[in-house]
Amino acid sequence: QWIYLNGEFVTKENAKISVYDHGFLYGDGVFEGIRVYSGNIFRMEEHMDRLYRSAKSIMLDIPHSQEELTNLIAETVEKNQLENAYIRAVVSRGVGDLGLDPRNCVSANVVIIVEPLSIFPKELYETGLEIVTVPTRRNRPDVLSPKVKSLNYLNNILVRMEAQLANVNEALMLNDQGYVAEGSADNVFIVKGTTFYTPPGYIGALEGITRNAVMDFAKELGYEVKEEPFTRHDVYTADEVFLTGTAAEVIAVVKVDGRVIGEGQPGIHTNKILEEFRKRVIQEGVK
Ligand code: PLP
Repeated sequence: QWIYLNGEFVTKENAKISVYDHGFLYGDGVFEGIRVYSGNIFRMEEHMDRLYRSAKSIMLDIPHSQEELTNLIAETVEKNQLENAYIRAVVSRGVGDLGLDPRNCVSANVVIIVEPLSIFPKELYETGLEIVTVPTRRNRPDVLSPKVKSLNYLNNILVRMEAQLANVNEALMLNDQGYVAEGSADNVFIVKGTTFYTPPGYIGALEGITRNAVMDFAKELGYEVKEEPFTRHDVYTADEVFLTGTAAEVIAVVKVDGRVIGEGQPGIHTNKILEEFRKRVIQEGVK
């Protein structure tokens, strides 16, 4: 396995960063998770746009043009000879001193990791997930915007821990007003009739690339898609619920806080979207 680290390809054992890196000391940096399907990097441009927007928002200079970094990622994928994989691109503020001041960090550290990935066991895509809602809230958009995919994932980690304490694999967090925001690392959709609903960006969620792709695919399949705020009640009473994310892809939810969703198994519309998603991630790479 080859890891790109600041201009070099190194082995996993040699992929090391200083303890003075502000990504390590303070979570000061940004990242992307991207997927490779049959040798094609899925929606690369959208991921790169988001990475550069995240960096701009926290005033972090990525020491490469967007085109250069895109090429470096493609090169790392090629070097690892993986047809299906998960890419993690990380840009941290770099090595500084023990103070917070980012001006003491000379240059950003850039890391690209490519490896095979399986997040949920395969069976769960057939049976669907049981999830809960948890006390940890999504951070408010007027503080650090949830649109920034930063290295500060403590909120999301607490959500995942709260899920584990409830003996389930994933959980939903609400925003400070009690509207459903998203999962720990995935966006949420509910289906009522033939309409798909997902929370709008201002509710406080990451603008998921998979979410946007699913909205495109659903519209093309003739579904109505609405970005509207909704509450836990709406989730409990939905016909279908599913999550989307680069790692999770599209996965049905069959129970939320003990309430059985629909028939208690992945719904027909969710399955249709999952099928379309699996087809399109490969098709989009065929030029
Ligand atoms: N929400 C959060 C907090 C995430 O970390 C992710 C994962 O990247 C998502 C949603 C899903 O976004 P995407 O589909 O771009 O992976």
